[in-house]
This record gives sequence, structure tokens and C-alpha cells, in this order.
Amino acid sequence: MESSADCPPVMCELCGLPVSRGCVSGRAVVLAPPTEINVPEFTIDDCQAEIDRLDEAISKSRSQLLNLSAELNAGREIFDGMLMMLDDPLVLQSCRDEITQYRVNAELAVKRMTEKFSNLFAEMDDPYLRERARDVRDISDRIIRNLLGRFESRSRTLSEPSILVSDSISPAELLSFSRPNILGIITVSGSVTSHVALLARAFGIPSVTSIAGLLARVSDGDFLLLDGTSGRVVVNPSAAEQAAFALLQERARLDAAELAAECGRPAATADGRQLKVLANTDANTPHGAVAATGADGIGLYRSEYLWLSLNRTPTEEEQTAAYSAMLREVPAGQPVVIRMLDIGGDKVMRDGRRMQDPETNPFLGNRSIRFLLDNPDEFRRQIRAVLRASSGGNLRLMYPMVSTLEELRAANLLVEDCKSELQSMNVPFNPDILRGSMVEVPSAALIADDLAKECDFISIGTNDLIQYTLAADRQNDRVARLYQPTHPAVLRLIKRTIDAGNAAGIPVSVCGECAADPVVASLLIGMGATSLSVSPSLIPLVKRTLRSFTWSGLQALACDTLDMMSGKTGSEVYQFCKERVKP
Ligand code: PEP
Ligand code: MG
Repeated sequence: MESSADCPPVMCELCGLPVSRGCVSGRAVVLAPPTEINVPEFTIDDCQAEIDRLDEAISKSRSQLLNLSAELNAGREIFDGMLMMLDDPLVLQSCRDEITQYRVNAELAVKRMTEKFSNLFAEMDDPYLRERARDVRDISDRIIRNLLGRFESRSRTLSEPSILVSDSISPAELLSFSRPNILGIITVSGSVTSHVALLARAFGIPSVTSIAGLLARVSDGDFLLLDGTSGRVVVNPSAAEQAAFALLQERARLDAAELAAECGRPAATADGRQLKVLANTDANTPHGAVAATGADGIGLYRSEYLWLSLNRTPTEEEQTAAYSAMLREVPAGQPVVIRMLDIGGDKVMRDGRRMQDPETNPFLGNRSIRFLLDNPDEFRRQIRAVLRASSGGNLRLMYPMVSTLEELRAANLLVEDCKSELQSMNVPFNPDILRGSMVEVPSAALIADDLAKECDFISIGTNDLIQYTLAADRQNDRVARLYQPTHPAVLRLIKRTIDAGNAAGIPVSVCGECAADPVVASLLIGMGATSLSVSPSLIPLVKRTLRSFTWSGLQALACDTLDMMSGKTGSEVYQFCKERVKP
């Protein structure tokens, strides 16, 4: 009989959610599940002494988090959020009340507070808020360990570059490893919007999440191939798999070098028709570095991140200063589109606060332009700030989530009103500032011809247009299969919108994520979109793809696709285009 030592390790293939792009291979380091801390429970006599002990543990936790945060160039806001929870009077008071009212020890008081708050977050529909439940547990775990003086952690010394495999991983845990030794990260649970996902992308560490059964399939020391772009993981690959993966890695390396050269070249078809590829940015983007990617301007500045980063409403002065500073960093004359406050839905304050009362279905609720029109003071403040900054460059303003003509009209009226206000105060601004409407909901696409007559440009937000057309939450991996940019229903709405804009003689851009997919980008430009706006890092890829076509080639691609799509599924349409596009 063959001994187990002679058996080759079993190869298997796993599929998860791609979180951070890149291909790596290496040995697995499996993190053991976190050791449960046994929280002691006893009654105390001296409440004040217990509160002092708690305060000391909190202050220790605070300096530990500050130290972790200080190591970071990017992603510090993760720890800012946790620090804010540590200082939250509600959280602190809840622990102190437990101690004084029930005379329980500090560890138990923290445990009870955690149960209360983390259950509250965990039950929320919003994936962002559900992630915060994990933050609460991380913080209380830290405080309790500091109270007990037992700070053993799951982190291991990585003696060589390895791929971390775990049920889940906290940002602090990730930072406890020496970064050059983390080749990749694979987790059972997590999401593309989690803090660890954000860190992985900021550090350029390939990562895949949401692989059920991962820990049963991967053991310490297994050799892994990890493709963070497709979400594929191969455990103990055969020689043939390894050779194919090496080719993939080599191609990715060459591609990166070739793409870097693309940055300085204009977006144009092979026969010289000029196209425009702009950047999607927000308050956290280093705008000075965006031009180097070859961006033709900022096609979507998500202004709400100013609110989200400050965790409060910025004043008119703060907004003016932020928009003006950003404008100074963009090459002179390039367009910068400020998308007005798109708050609501998944966009909530970092501490979980919403800017209005809770709603049963915030994605269909009082968000974006609806919220702004409902809060005219807030809206006017932002309009005035954009107008004031507009004297410094080619600034444009854009309304989010328009679904009716009334909304567009009401917003336009407010803009005119704010112009008169500034005029009467002799404040300089660009009186001809362009006002655009986003098309992100099916109703807007279906009345795009009417909208186009009352605005200066249109930008199609496919991220939302796809979710609202297919009734598939853009953040829910369980319905990810339904989220199809090339679903015929979506393409028909996009085509209708582009045609309406072209007929009215106004530009139509596409600024959703799918515009960065070379296949979809080619199709959109072929359908008549005047420009695309994508994440800065993907601009070179989109430009290179467009350069590989002639103008008539792009038009033919769109024409053939629209002709073939009756009776076809979204993936059949995608496959049809893919065979005709060389990224
Ligand atoms: C969109 O919906 O496509 C869009 C660009 O807006 P956001 O992703 O910010 O919702
Ligand atoms: Mg949107």
C-alpha cells in the first residue's frame, strides 16, 4: 500500500470574490482561528477603581491603534474610525454604567457593551454598516486583552514571503505582519468594501475573499496560485497549472510595463479620431498624480467623500477650499465635474451615522438629489461653493440620481438662484458653468431626451443603472451573477440615453465601473458615448484598447452587438464583444 508520504498533495481549484488585482504564487500560512478570550465575571466593591482600570486599558488601546495608524501612508482612516469609536461617549458611558449599576468587573462591562453594539450593526441591511460590527468586536477584544494583560495575537512571524489564509483578518492583524512577506491574502469571509480589502488594494497585495470551505481545503505549507484579478485560487497545482500561471504572471508583468508607456499617449483611435478618457476621483485622491495616468480631466469627483472623510457636513468655505485646491492640481483647462452630494444608500458617515432618519430601503429612499432638494440649505451651500471655485478653472456641476424632470428643473432653479445671490455679493464665478445630469436609474434613461433639453451634459452611472435595472444589489455577492453590464436591457437603456444626448447636441459620458472594462469601454464608445470616466489606474488600459480600433471598427462593434442581442443573455452578449476586443 502507498504511504501518505508518497501521495502527491491534492490539487483543487477554488473561486472567490476578486478583491485586489495581481497574480502571485507561494506557500500558504494558515492563521489559526482566534483564541476565544475567557472573560472573567465577578462583582467588584470599588466602582471608581474599576472605572480607572477601564480608562487605563482604553488609553493603552488608543496608543496601540495610533501606533498602527502612524505606520501607514494609505488607509489611515480605518484606524481613525476605530479611534472615534473608542472616544465615543455613548460607548464609554455604556461600559461605565454597567460597572456602576451592576457592580461588574470592567472586562464583563466591555463584553456586554460589545454584544449590544455589534449586534446592532450586524443586523443592519447595509453591508458597510455590517462591517462596522467587526470593528466593534476588534476594539473590545483589544480593550479586554489590555485589561487582562494578555496580548497574545494570531500574528506569526513570516520567515519567508507567504500567502495568508484565514477565516477573516482584521486591519490591525494584517499590519502586524512584515509587509514585504505578505504575498497575498485569501479569506473565507469578507467583502470588496471591507477595510482589509481597502488596505490590500492600497498596498497592491493580491487578494481574494468569500471562499466557503477554504480552511478545509488549504493547510499550512500548501503551495498556492492566487489570481486576485479573476478570484481564482489553485491549491497544490500540477506542473502544467504552474506553467500556465507563470505565463499569466509574465504577461501581467509585461502588460504593466507596456501600459505605463501608454500614459503619455492621447486617447485616440488607430485612424486618429480623438477620444477622451477621464478619471473618477474623490476627496482622498492625490489629484496631483492623476494627470500622470494620462487622464483628460476629472469626469466624476464624488463630492460626498468630503462629508464622509470629515464625518460631518463641511462648511461652504471648506468646500470652496477643497474644490479650488483640487482644481489647482489638475492641468489648466481640463474639465473637472463635481458630482453633487450623493449621500444615502451605502454612503453613510464613517461612524455609521446617516444624515437623516433611518429608512427601510435606503437604496430606494431619500438619497442623492432627493436628499439635496429636501435639504435646500445643504444643497445651496454646495452649489455656492462649486460656483465660487468655478472662477479658478473648468469646473462643472452634476446632479446625482435624477429620476424625474421636476428634480432636474428644481436643481437648475436653485443653481440660478445661487448665481444671483453671488452676483449681488460681487463674488466672482463662472456664469456659464455647465450643469449635467447623471442617468443612473431606468426612468432617467427612458426620459433622457427630455433631460437632455434641460442640461448641458449627461453622465451615465452604470454602477447604479445596472443595479436598478436588474434589481440586483451592486454590493451583494449572492446576486453578483445578475449584475451584468451587457444585459440587453441595460445596453438598450444606455443606447437610448446616448442617442438622446447626441440628438440634443450635448456630450454623454459613462462613469460607472464597467467603463473601465476594455470590452465594455469599446462598446460604449462605439455606441456613441463622447467620453469615459474611470479609476485613474485603469486609464492606460482603456486607452490602449481604444487605440487598437479604427473609429469605424468601434462603430461596427456596437452595431453588430446591438443587432445580435435580441434573444441573447448578458453573458452571451459579453462573449460576442470579447471575441472582438483585444485589451
Ligand atoms: C454610478 O452609479 O455608476 C456612479 C458612478 O455613482 P456611484 O458609483 O458613486 O454610485
Ligand atoms: Mg451612482
